[in-house]
Amino acid sequence: MGYTELFCQLCAVSFNIGRVRTTYEPLEDGWDSTGSPYHARDATSSRCMSNPSDSGCKNIVIKTPPNVHHESRYQHLAGPGCTFEGGYNGHRIGVREMRGMNCARYILKKPRGALSEDGDEGEEKLSQYFVSAVTTSPPDAFTPTRLEYVRYGVSQVIGRNYPSPGCQDDEECAIPVHDACWKIFEKVSIRKSGRVDLEGFAALWWREPCRASGIQGLKHDSVIRELREKWWIHRRGTEYLAANPVDIPGFKLMMQEAYTEVPKGDGVFLVKDSCKRSSSLEAPYCGYEDEVDPFMTLPSELKSKVLVQLSSKDVSSLRLASRAFKQLPKRFFRQLILDETPWFWEVDQVKSEIEEYYQATFQENYGNDLEMFSEGIPPAWLSFVNERMQRKPMDTNWHQVYKQLKTMERGTLGLRNRVRIWKIAEDVISKIKEMRCRLEAGQTEFRVFPPELAQIMGHIQKQDVL
Ligand SMILES: [Zn+2]
Ligand SMILES: [Zn+2]
Repeated sequence: MGYTELFCQLCAVSFNIGRVRTTYEPLEDGWDSTGSPYHARDATSSRCMSNPSDSGCKNIVIKTPPNVHHESRYQHLAGPGCTFEGGYNGHRIGVREMRGMNCARYILKKPRGALSEDGDEGEEKLSQYFVSAVTTSPPDAFTPTRLEYVRYGVSQVIGRNYPSPGCQDDEECAIPVHDACWKIFEKVSIRKSGRVDLEGFAALWWREPCRASGIQGLKHDSVIRELREKWWIHRRGTEYLAANPVDIPGFKLMMQEAYTEVPKGDGVFLVKDSCKRSSSLEAPYCGYEDEVDPFMTLPSELKSKVLVQLSSKDVSSLRLASRAFKQLPKRFFRQLILDETPWFWEVDQVKSEIEEYYQATFQENYGNDLEMFSEGIPPAWLSFVNERMQRKPMDTNWHQVYKQLKTMERGTLGLRNRVRIWKIAEDVISKIKEMRCRLEAGQTEFRVFPPELAQIMGHIQKQDVL
């Protein structure tokens, strides 16, 4: 039987991704497609070894490699210019950034007679489907892969890339997904539908399978198609596809900087007046007289209401057209984050954590004796300390937070992947909703497989009516 890799049915990336450790890293920081720290691929013929002074790579000899591959006697250590194809270059993606991305969870039907599990809650409790524990190693397409712990009596599973002819019973068909991708799917589901539709997901997968990307018609990054050869191609520049989109090292620390920026002014984001710097020809709106700008007479609350209705692009246009919107309220940026970048689900959580941290630190330092210390504390800082100890919400410079998030979105591998997967999850959920609508409309010619799943979905198939 030929070699086949399983891939995540949400993000379309293989579970068999490797990492080539750098010359500075220990053995366990590298792994091959099977998860072994010893790469089976031939390290001696890698292009980067033809000019090691340029690539910075080197091969080392392992006297007793633990597996039987002859090639694994030579193990490759990556330099900055590595081209070895056994995995992503350790110089370009960290061990922690890739954590969990070569293991799977499965969406599958509960075995007949399965008892409910302790800790069952929400959708899963009511559903005939469940989400398995994570595999202990990269999943295999032909032999069962062990799970970290048993759920509903299931301790090992074979996943499938699509419902194949040999997969007659839906109980046999386990749908593999990354743990992180499923977590994003859950978040988007709750946001869009108020629930996680396990049966709907399984029914869509059965109804609209795609050999190339899990589910038909999803807009995946086009490069994925080029990378999905027999073995995943670890092409330089595509490391983001293997970066954990949920657990992003340093994310909160990077965010804290933006929140702790002390807001200036009265909660209004002040922009530089470009009229003062430019000629009237360069800045068309400078020729406006305020009396012909109807927005100038609007109170700030109404202006805020206008702003929150617009996309960021429209706001930019409005700011060019009207002087009334040259100054944007900082709170506007919070709404912008929530509406246009919903994948940053941590924004309020990070703020609360910072407030908690300040409160606890000041409580420990000053206790109930703040007044005793007040003489030596600058008034602005004293007021800040007082407010935190009284648990008043911090005045946040949301514009600063917004800028920081946008910068990180472009430059952080995990966040780039998060945005990608969030949009895919949105598409999947729209498809599930559309399918449910057709079922509820009683379109009997609309097919759901297998029949047992159709029954669970409450759908009567055409042949059942006849
Ligand atoms: Zn995935
Ligand atoms: Zn190399």
